[in-house]
Formats: sequence, structure tokens, C-alpha cells
Amino acid sequence: MNETIERMRVGPKGHTQVISGAPWAEVLTPALVELGHRRVLVLCSAGRRAVAEQVATQLAEHPGLDARGLFAEAEAHVPRALAERALAELEARGADTLIAVGGGAVIGLAKAVALLATRAGRARPLLVALPTTYAGSEMTAIWGLERDDGTGKQVGRDEAVRFELAIYDPALTAGLPAKLALPSLFNAMAHAVDALYPLEQAESRPATLVAAITEAIAELSAAITALGRDAQDGAARRKAMVGAQRAGAVLDRAGMSLHHKLAHVLGGRWSLPHAATHTILLPQVVAFMARAAPWANAALGEALTKGLGRERPVVDPAADPAAALSSLAREVGAPVDLLELGLARDQLDAAVDEVLAAAVVSPRPLTRSGLRELLDDAWLGRPASGSRRRLAPLARSGHGSLPAALAGPPLAQAQAAVIAVHGRGGTAEAVIAQLEQLLAGLPEGLAIVAPQAEARRWYPRGFAQPVARNQPELDDAIDQLAALRRHVATQVAPTRTLLFGFSQGACLVLDQVARSGGPLAGVVAI
Ligand code: NAD
Repeated sequence: MNETIERMRVGPKGHTQVISGAPWAEVLTPALVELGHRRVLVLCSAGRRAVAEQVATQLAEHPGLDARGLFAEAEAHVPRALAERALAELEARGADTLIAVGGGAVIGLAKAVALLATRAGRARPLLVALPTTYAGSEMTAIWGLERDDGTGKQVGRDEAVRFELAIYDPALTAGLPAKLALPSLFNAMAHAVDALYPLEQAESRPATLVAAITEAIAELSAAITALGRDAQDGAARRKAMVGAQRAGAVLDRAGMSLHHKLAHVLGGRWSLPHAATHTILLPQVVAFMARAAPWANAALGEALTKGLGRERPVVDPAADPAAALSSLAREVGAPVDLLELGLARDQLDAAVDEVLAAAVVSPRPLTRSGLRELLDDAWLGRPASGSRRRLAPLARSGHGSLPAALAGPPLAQAQAAVIAVHGRGGTAEAVIAQLEQLLAGLPEGLAIVAPQAEARRWYPRGFAQPVARNQPELDDAIDQLAALRRHVATQVAPTRTLLFGFSQGACLVLDQVARSGGPLAGVVAI
């Protein structure tokens, strides 16, 4: 056996034996023989069939093992009916061991089989994992089962679902494309980040747990950067697996906070892709918690600094971990908004209600407006920051129901102001960044107010389309810009206020000037 194999044997119950650093083909069969269970059924989804067949073939060729075939029907979620079918298959084939080859979905199916068998007083199979993603589920005693009536997912903890053995072989992630690998790594990082928040107000913070959390975050952020550059980077895939295993162990050992509750509610209600949902939520939850959880925020900042290094990040992770995670996700092309996942904005209220009704350990008190703003930000993919400033919404619905972003001094202390209107597909924060770049930094005394369009567009069709085809969004946009001008005028003289618009925003500011004229310091329409 390869010398680099690292073995952690920690008792038969309550812990999972981990083998990492060696090809699975070298370590799987000896480990199975040692475990004493011989009648093995391999579980996978249709996508991982090829590698699962290699596993089944190797088992069949081993004289000391009794291969009982392949069950290749795992799905993205774990419907109860599927788990019952897999259990029936296990029993019909007389198997006593399940090897799950795949991501969280396949691992989850194996857990569900063990749970159903135990609850029914039948023989529980031994569980072995060959993970092919970074979900980390094989390290936890947490199970999830889809209700058959489509009303969401049931989740619980039970030692019956704990894996006896997990074999981490980075070769198994060789085919994982960046669009799956990166969200999977953000999902793993979320396990570790969310474990920081219950510790914020804890009476004591176990040093080993804090170290496990921050090491996982450092490994995973380094792996995300490297795999964002080259999805096949072997060293980065090794690092990613170590990080994923550690983050899974943290999830098992520590508490969870708002992040997992939100991901569970959104994913469970609308069957959103699991890893992408975690990826989108993570920077927004970190921004939401930043001021209320200074210890957690600082620990996260330090871990990200270690993982990302000091030379590369556009944003200093120690100063603003939320902004660093947000820019990391953008840099590597990971998903940043729920809108792209097909969720409608009016569905967010139901998610807020469900979170408010649950008992969530959160250092920041959870309010309807705070949660709704967090979810609106996640829905739009507004770049996150722990130090962002916002204007209270000027309306209850439409464009004005989203808060404008502020930069520079408070309006009451500003010498001049720019009202900056983003273009189609843009965000308030992005147009502020664009202005900062154009001006090579904000001049002292200059405040920027940037409104946010609902669904990231001020009107749905092009400017050349008949006006009626752009309604009612267009009239709402015109009204909102006028309302924002009136608001700014209460604190900064109109002669010291400039209108700046990009693309759709340029049309709006020109329209605004045509309608109401000056006084105004100027108009820039790009
Ligand atoms: P997944 O298992 O559905 O895999 C995502 C996609 O990646 C699938 O299409 C799969 O076929 C494909 N894939 C997997 N490995 C691949 C490879 N090496 N190459 C190419 N494609 C590959 O999703 P996931 O993100 O791994 O896991 C999400 C699931 O895990 C969710 O259901 C979630 O609830 C569960 N989960 C549970 C826990 C827990 O502790 N219970 C923890 C994390 C995640």
C-alpha cells in the first residue's frame, strides 16, 4: 500500500474511518476484508455508472468478497420510495454492505437505506463511501428524505446513518467539471462558516473545533482559487478533498445557523440545485452577520486570508470576508443569484415566514425585513459586503422596494452627490464600483446613491420598443428616479447633484432631465 495513506481509526461507532491519499483501487478491497463484511452492493447514479462498474468488477474479482451487483438509480434528492426500493434490492440480493460511489445524493441514498432498515428492526447495512464531489455528507450522521407528497424534505440526525468507512481518492473528482466542482466547494465551505455563528455567543469555544473550522475554510478557499483557474489541477483537487472531509466533520460536530436553515428552506420548497443555492447564499449570510458576529467575522477573515493569500484578492479578506467571498465567487464564475435559478421574487416571503417560524441560533436577531433584504440581495446577486450602507426603501413594491446603495459620506455631510443608475442586468453596487474605477477612487465629500432595479432591469424590452411594451416597469422606474432625486435634494443642493446612468440607466437619466430639467450639476449618460 502507498506510503502516503493516512488512516484515522477512531472506534467502531460514532466515527468514520477515513482513508485518503491512495488510489481507491488499492485500498478498498483490503479495507472491506478487514471490516469483515463481504456481501457488497454498489450504489450510484446513472452519471457515475462507469466508475461504479469498475468498483463492482474489482469486488467480483476478489476471492475474499462476494459482489452483489450494482444499483444505479440514485437521484438528485432522496425520495422515500427510492430509498425503500434500494432497501428491498439490498435484501433481495442478500447484501450486508453498501458502497456509495458519487456525490451527496448517492451518499444520502445509502444513509436513507440504513435509516429505514434500522427503524424497521431489520439488518442495517455497513456503509462505505467513495465520494466524487465535495459535499462532505459521508462525514455526518445527518440524513435527509424527500416526503413523497412533495411537501419538502425531512432532515434528522441518527447514528444509524453514520458511514463506517470513507475513502477519499482525488482521482474520483477528475471528471468533475468546474461548474459542479466550484459550487460543491462553496457548499463545503458553508458547512464550516455556518459553524462559526453558534460559537459567537457560546460560553466557551473549543479550540480544536475552531481550528478544524478555520483550517477547512483555508483549504477550501485555496482550492476554489486554484480550481477556478484550472479545474483539473491535481494538487488543488487533493486539497479540495481534504477541505471537504474536514468541513463535513465540522458539520457533524458543530451547530448550524442561519445559512443552513435558509438553504434547506429554499432547496426543500422549490427543489433548487443544492450546491448552487449554498454558493449564492454564503456571501450574503456572511454580510448579514458581519456586524452582529465580530468574533466569527474576524475568524473567517483570518482563515480566508490564509487560504487566498495576501497578494491576489481584490478585496482584503480580513477587512471584509463577505466581500472577499462575493468577489471570489464572481472571479471563478460560480453562481451568484437565485434569479438565475428560476425562483420568482414573490416566493421569497414564504421562505422568510418559514425561517422565522423555526428555532435558528443566530447572533443577529432575525426580523422579517432583515431576512427579506438578505434574500432580495441573494435573488439579485448584489455584491455582498459586511460594511455596505443602504437607503431605506422608498416604496413598498416595484423598483422602489429595493434599497438604494450608498457610498462616500452620509448625504447630510456630503458636499456633492451623484445619483448613479445601473444598466440592464446590473446592480447598484456594481455601478458604484464602475464609478469608483472611472474616477480612480471617490473624491472626498462626494456621496453616491445608486438605486436598484427589480429583476435587474428598469424595463423589460429595448428602448426602441413601443412604450406600452415596457410598462408598468418603465413608469415605475421614472417615478422612482424622480422620488430619489427629491430625497437627495432634501440634503444636497440640486446644483451639486449629478445624474449618472449606464445603458438602460442612461436612458432613464436622460428621460428624467427631459421631463423635469434642472437645476442640476450635470448629466453623464453612457
Ligand atoms: P449530487 O450528488 O446530486 O451531485 C451533483 C451532480 O454532480 C450530479 O449530477 C452528479 O451526477 C454529478 N457528479 C458527481 N460526481 C461527479 C464527478 N466526479 N464527475 C462528474 N459529475 C459528477 O450533489 P452534491 O452537491 O454532491 O450533494 C448534494 C446532496 O447532498 C443534497 O441532497 C444535500 O442535501 C446532500 N448533503 C447532505 C449532507 C449531510 O450531512 N446529510 C451534507 C451535504 C450535502
